[in-house]
Amino acid sequence: MNKPLAHGSVIGILGGGQLGRMLSVAASRLGYKTHIFEPTSNPPAGDVAFEITTAPYSNEEALERFAKSVDIITYEFENIPTGALDILERVRPIHPNRETLRVSQDRCVEKQFLNKIGLKTAPFADVSSLKELEAAVNDIGAPSILKTRRFGYDGKGQVRLTPESNLAETYEAIGEQLAVLEGFVSFIREVSVIGARNAAGDVACFDPGENVHKDGILDMTTVPAQISAAQRMDAVLLTAKIMNALEYVGVMGVELFVTGAGLIVNEIAPRVHNSGHWTQDGCAVDQFEQHIRAITGWPLGDGSRYCDVRMENLIGQDVGRVKMLAGEKNVALHLYGKAEIKAGRKMGHLNRILAKETG
Ligand code: AMP
Repeated sequence: MNKPLAHGSVIGILGGGQLGRMLSVAASRLGYKTHIFEPTSNPPAGDVAFEITTAPYSNEEALERFAKSVDIITYEFENIPTGALDILERVRPIHPNRETLRVSQDRCVEKQFLNKIGLKTAPFADVSSLKELEAAVNDIGAPSILKTRRFGYDGKGQVRLTPESNLAETYEAIGEQLAVLEGFVSFIREVSVIGARNAAGDVACFDPGENVHKDGILDMTTVPAQISAAQRMDAVLLTAKIMNALEYVGVMGVELFVTGAGLIVNEIAPRVHNSGHWTQDGCAVDQFEQHIRAITGWPLGDGSRYCDVRMENLIGQDVGRVKMLAGEKNVALHLYGKAEIKAGRKMGHLNRILAKETG
């Protein structure tokens, strides 16, 4: 293996939200500095980073200056405009790689990729007109979910269809964009695996967590997930398969539906993931440090779980609970420093240690 990136090097991070903030803290603990590129002012990551560039992704000069000031580039979100990536990549390496972004930026391409490597997804059909939506509903049926192919997150850009739905109205509701119709999966539970892979091809996965969503946004993740040992093994192996197929370097979140007929992949996120925040207080090396290790050429760290944990998101007004939570036993708070409270805005999270592992 090549030598790790030198102590004191600068890691460029695209995106200055809470994930960029927690990545910056992890990077600094390993002796690195971070430089954040973010279009909006006063982002959460700005408080803890060495440097910040405030510019839109269309500002070529700012992108080039940013790239020249860092040693490697990573990102906290997958919807980075391709034009910006082209400019950055000419100057410095980007991890995870472009192929991963190409696949994960488009729900249809992502599902085709997953099927090609032998993994199950919900049945789906590409939709680019009302006519195609009608044909897709004929094929897949209802209930089903119409999702925009690109730029969807936290349940945004999605509409559920029932047999009674008016298709023209549904298509209008997602802005008549390129979309994918997905068959509704009647899952028993939702789990996710946070995996890591480095350039040497070493793979390590954290224990799968069980996720509960509220209003399309992750509400809680509990580890261990209530799944069998065989399902746990399947979940981890399929995550490794995805990362190997993409020659992935970094941390990835893989969201899965657990069904009576096995595991179905919902989506992949080529970055640290909200459902992996429990690792901050449940493992010696958390997902943020693991990502920094993977992209800077360190050996992957020990991510074995030493306690049962429940991560709870603090969304919007939930942050008002902080004063009370601060005095609770076995609770670790993680706040993002966001000044303005908005409905649906992730303000922080907490990790509740449920029980120590014995033996
Ligand atoms: P997504 O943005 O694709 O992760 O979807 C957000 C949430 O909507 C998921 O975590 C599920 O709870 C639900 N969901 C998405 N797609 C499906 C599907 N095909 N069948 C059933 N539930 C789904």
